[in-house]
Amino acid sequence: MTSHEIRRHFLDFFRSKQHLIVPSAPLVAKNDPTLMFNNSGMAQFKDFFLGNGTPPSPRVADTQKCLRVSGKHNDLEDVGFDTYHHTMFEMLGNWSFGDYFKKEALAWSWELLTEVYKLPKDRIYVSVFKGDERDNVPFDQESWDIWREILGRDGEPDESRIILGNKKDNFWEMGDTGPCGPCSEIHIDLRSPDEVAATPGKELVNADHPQVVEIWNNVFMQFNRKADGSLEELPARHVDTGMGFERLCMAIQGKQSNYDTDVFSGTIQVIEELSGRKYEAGKGMADVAMRVIADHIRAVSFAIADGLVPSNAKAGYVIRRILRRAIRYGYSYLNLTEPFMTKLVPTLAMQFADVFPELNAQRDFVATVIREEEIAFLRTLGTGLGRLDQIIGQLASEGKSEIPGETVFELNDTFGFPADLTALIAREKGLSIDEAGFQKALQEQKARSRKDATSSAGDWIELNDVDRTEFVGYDQTEIETFIVKYRKV
Ligand code: ATP
Ligand code: MG
Ligand code: MG
Ligand code: MG
Repeated sequence: MTSHEIRRHFLDFFRSKQHLIVPSAPLVAKNDPTLMFNNSGMAQFKDFFLGNGTPPSPRVADTQKCLRVSGKHNDLEDVGFDTYHHTMFEMLGNWSFGDYFKKEALAWSWELLTEVYKLPKDRIYVSVFKGDERDNVPFDQESWDIWREILGRDGEPDESRIILGNKKDNFWEMGDTGPCGPCSEIHIDLRSPDEVAATPGKELVNADHPQVVEIWNNVFMQFNRKADGSLEELPARHVDTGMGFERLCMAIQGKQSNYDTDVFSGTIQVIEELSGRKYEAGKGMADVAMRVIADHIRAVSFAIADGLVPSNAKAGYVIRRILRRAIRYGYSYLNLTEPFMTKLVPTLAMQFADVFPELNAQRDFVATVIREEEIAFLRTLGTGLGRLDQIIGQLASEGKSEIPGETVFELNDTFGFPADLTALIAREKGLSIDEAGFQKALQEQKARSRKDATSSAGDWIELNDVDRTEFVGYDQTEIETFIVKYRKV
């Protein structure tokens, strides 16, 4: 099944269950001061759950472009190093606004996965919220009973593949107060039979195993958390689900990694051609770099197509950093020293022309913006290299073989010249860097910025005193991490 068919089957399935299929909201969250990027399918429906609007239909489904690079959901550091977290990904979702509830939602999840997609039943694990007395939230008996029936055989209920989950994994809340409720996740074990025989999949759920992955989350909004911490039942109960499209493709196509699916293969092929290297799906830095590039070009291209341009402030700065991260990986590990990201845009635009036509419609503009950014950043890298050469020459004349941490920090801070790149070049010249000294300088800068920074919180947690704060930009605290800084005014 191709990724196009997989997406289409999802939408067709929920259409057949009377869902209205709606378009994805833009990647950049609009009219929501608490959220920079859409990071889940339900973000665009927030108002309906809060009772501030009327949904176009009580049942809705879509595929939503999501970006998880800031706030509560920040997967950036994992991208490229693991094989199943992306910056931008598609979240397939179905919703009930006060309509169907747990029984239908869970039964449909199972039907779609096992009957339409034909995923093996004995490789699927599900989780149910076990309750948390300290927090007044009860065990989700209802989901437990429903799953026992669904997973049962020959009329015998079966609980052997149900996992009890804690609040962190299996309870969703919008903030300290407001709608909340238990969730039920669906995980799949894609390992070989030998590996399965050696370690039961159940033990590897939520253990960061690349072949035992979470694919779908069903959230049941059934409570309202009051200011005193107690819960009351909501008058209307809602369902919110999200399934990672790229992970689903990996499972259905029998691949080891999201990057081995046809979602990414076209882009990886172009990266191979540009770099003259073969992608070997391994852990070496050249392979990490190819994954980083294949991932980041999507995030950056779609963000620009949705109206964001790389800049020095706010969301534009996040996009700039993502783009630079990819350029730097290409530069350091694939020897890509000329603009290359821009050359990936046409393949991507073609691939998504049917589902997200906004990219194809602005293909040339997106490619131009990316090319300009690349030219400018490659020049910065060039300047940094020049400065580094000077430093190395001076150290050599002094008979020293280690670049001081302060200097590594200055290169990073002033020239945007990443420490690992400095280390790489130093190594090539027979030198080392004072890693500890660099970390110390970094920590000192972090401490300085933390003093007046409040980091952005969860999905929609209202920022305290939001109208008494003024946005002052992002702080680069680590090589690729950002803190959202607000200053009291
Ligand atoms: P994980 O535990 O793997 O980080 P999550 O619990 O944070 O996932 P949810 O917020 O439940 O994810 O989102 C719903 C689904 O979206 C997940 O079940 C997963 O399939 C997918 N998903 C989440 N984060 C990513 C990501 N960074 N890249 C690709 N897919 C993702
Ligand atoms: Mg996560
Ligand atoms: Mg999870
Ligand atoms: Mg989850």
